[in-house]
Amino acid sequence: MQYYSTSHHSPNVDFREAAIKGQAPDKGLYFPQSIPQIDPSLLRDIESTDDADIAFQVIRPFVGNSIPDEVLFSIAKESISFPIPLVDLGNGYHSLELFHGPTLAFKDVGARFMSRCLGYFLKENTKKVTVLVATSGDTGGAVANGFFGVEGVEVVILYPSGKVSPVQEKQLTTLGGNIRALEIDGSFDDCQAMVKQAFMDPQLNDSLFLTSANSINVARWLPQQFYYLLAYKQWKDKSNPPVISVPSGNFGNICAGLMAHAGGLPVRHFLAACNVNDVVTRYLATEKYEPLKAIATLSNAMDVGEPSNFIRIQEIFGHRFNDLAATLSSYTVTDAETLDTISQVETVYHYTPDPHGAVAFHALEVYRRQFPDAAGIFLETAHPVKFPDAIEQATGRQVPVPESLTGVMSAQKKSTLLKPSFDELKQFLLA
Ligand SMILES: *Cc1c(COP(=O)(O)O)cnc(C)c1O
Repeated sequence: MQYYSTSHHSPNVDFREAAIKGQAPDKGLYFPQSIPQIDPSLLRDIESTDDADIAFQVIRPFVGNSIPDEVLFSIAKESISFPIPLVDLGNGYHSLELFHGPTLAFKDVGARFMSRCLGYFLKENTKKVTVLVATSGDTGGAVANGFFGVEGVEVVILYPSGKVSPVQEKQLTTLGGNIRALEIDGSFDDCQAMVKQAFMDPQLNDSLFLTSANSINVARWLPQQFYYLLAYKQWKDKSNPPVISVPSGNFGNICAGLMAHAGGLPVRHFLAACNVNDVVTRYLATEKYEPLKAIATLSNAMDVGEPSNFIRIQEIFGHRFNDLAATLSSYTVTDAETLDTISQVETVYHYTPDPHGAVAFHALEVYRRQFPDAAGIFLETAHPVKFPDAIEQATGRQVPVPESLTGVMSAQKKSTLLKPSFDELKQFLLA
């Protein structure tokens, strides 16, 4: 499979090069030259097919000859080596629980897949690769965990001091080894700006091989298709495919679902559930795309003013607005509605969604008022314990800490405090 840049000013590359580079040199995003079709017999026999086999079959055409089949099979298998249950809440609502991975967020799937691919590609490299990533919370933990112990890769994570939750901070500061955490005395935007500047700095790029691990990278974006197929495997009424509601920030997750659908996965309709950072909701209403500065909300992993993967969604639909609008709707959900949804879902369905899952639930609820015969799935992208303040605000109760977290919560935080200045980052990286 060859990948072109969405800016059309860089040469095509194979999966290996796209995964190592991250972003195309012309600042475009890599996109596959054709959309592989899922084998109809896989969809027909999906209930009796192994999860790992489903994942392998879906990703194989995207990887092409870059990784031998037996290696790719283990990578695919390891990236979903935890339960991904579809929980029936009743009344046509289903939660796809994507939070059973090591850092309790859906980003584990993509981060595990990407880290193992890079580990394979860099086995014979003499020069170390430095993965540099800015996080507002979940990305850092998933990337740290995914890359921990991968040879030939150093990871440096920048996070805004005091602005990630206690669980998130522990997950990205306690591993040590090849993972280093930088606590930035500033905002997430400061972290992001420092990382961007590092990628453009000639002196840094001369002495280090820098790459990023956000959903711009094809090796993190594409494996997210896995769980859309696993949801379909568990979907009982195959004659009435689900509406799928995805809490969206950078739109990497929903873009993977749309890709699987373009490859033949039956889905009735997609909902992009946004908080008040709703560029895409407004785009679908007005056909005008107007990025804005991000506003802080309770569902903070979606506080994105300019979603990086939206261009890929446009590519999937050949930039035809009407085709896009026939498959995708988008809803804006306020913090007040998010809190109200958490409390309602708890009362009515005895289920506690995290703020992101609650945004998705709310969008699905609004959609189903208009289309009552549609049954649906909302993606539960994180465990509620990662957002304890919002849950307590909504329900008046604390979330019990799952047993799997006791180790990390008692581990020692190791991070380096830096001012929000690129020069400080540069000195740190060159030291
Ligand atoms: C990252 C994240 C999202 C947003 O996913 P995108 O792929 O950026 O749209 C939603 N929910 C949670 C919990 C996240 O960590």
